[in-house]
Amino acid sequence: MNSGLLLDDCFKEHRTGAGHPESPARLDTVRHALERAGLIACTTPIAVTEVADRDVLRVHDADYIERIVKTCAAGAPHIDAPDSAICPRSYEIARLAAGSVLTAVAGVMEGRWKNAFCAVRPPGHHAERNRSMGFCLLNNVAIAAEHLIREHGLAKVMILDWDVHHGNGTQHSFEERSDVLYISLHGHPAHVYPGTGYENETGVGPGEEFTLNLPMMPGSGDDAYRTAFDEKVAPLAESFAPEFVLLSAGFDAHRRDPLAPIELENESYAWMTRWVLDLARRHSGGRLVSLLEGGYDMQALGECVALHVGLLQEAST
Ligand SMILES: [Zn+2]
Repeated sequence: MNSGLLLDDCFKEHRTGAGHPESPARLDTVRHALERAGLIACTTPIAVTEVADRDVLRVHDADYIERIVKTCAAGAPHIDAPDSAICPRSYEIARLAAGSVLTAVAGVMEGRWKNAFCAVRPPGHHAERNRSMGFCLLNNVAIAAEHLIREHGLAKVMILDWDVHHGNGTQHSFEERSDVLYISLHGHPAHVYPGTGYENETGVGPGEEFTLNLPMMPGSGDDAYRTAFDEKVAPLAESFAPEFVLLSAGFDAHRRDPLAPIELENESYAWMTRWVLDLARRHSGGRLVSLLEGGYDMQALGECVALHVGLLQEAST
């Protein structure tokens, strides 16, 4: 079996304007890197699919969705904050991103591919129930986790988020629940956007202990991440024993990235990928879908996505 790969030029149609770091060119970089590595030919393409309203409305309020539709139609340059840049087609493209991730998830559940990587934009993990944040419109990974629970009947879904920014929207979607384990490693909120994800945010009520935040101080690198995985991530993930693993794969904790002060190397993304694939192999029958979040240095993004997808494909065969 192969890995599934979602890579389509339609996701370049979400236009964010000159100079915005979350640019359509990021997907050209991903495509060229995967082509060079021979990974487009050997993976199975995933069809672009529009998300159903019911999937969106499990995670987002109807009046927020109406607001996005109107704001895009009005030709506004951004929604909620200047960094969430939009164009008239942005909502349409965001619906295709979320829906295509659900197709990736369904393909794993049905055994069409063992795991999948989704090179989507706009990204999703900052998007809250009722507002856009940090370049994100719809919370793709939260929509996927809800879909797995409601439509596929799963009881335990894990979301690992190694984007350098805390996935506030994802945490808030599930922090009161015990069926979704959310684990995030990110730059310390005192120094890095969005200013949430302190270690003492561990879940609420029945969700207590089902949120794990591991803030990293500026200058942290591979050693700090390895220690965090060994001492904190592994024990919790092992005891949770997920039936499906979703990965918010940002590549902006790389030392070359311009948006945050964390110092991971290419090899860090390789071992973290091996680690999460091994967890999925032992607990979820290898079922894993990885979604692109951030990553703004073009060289680091291309190299790390190629390593990441290469390891996903290797684990599929
Ligand atoms: Zn990020």
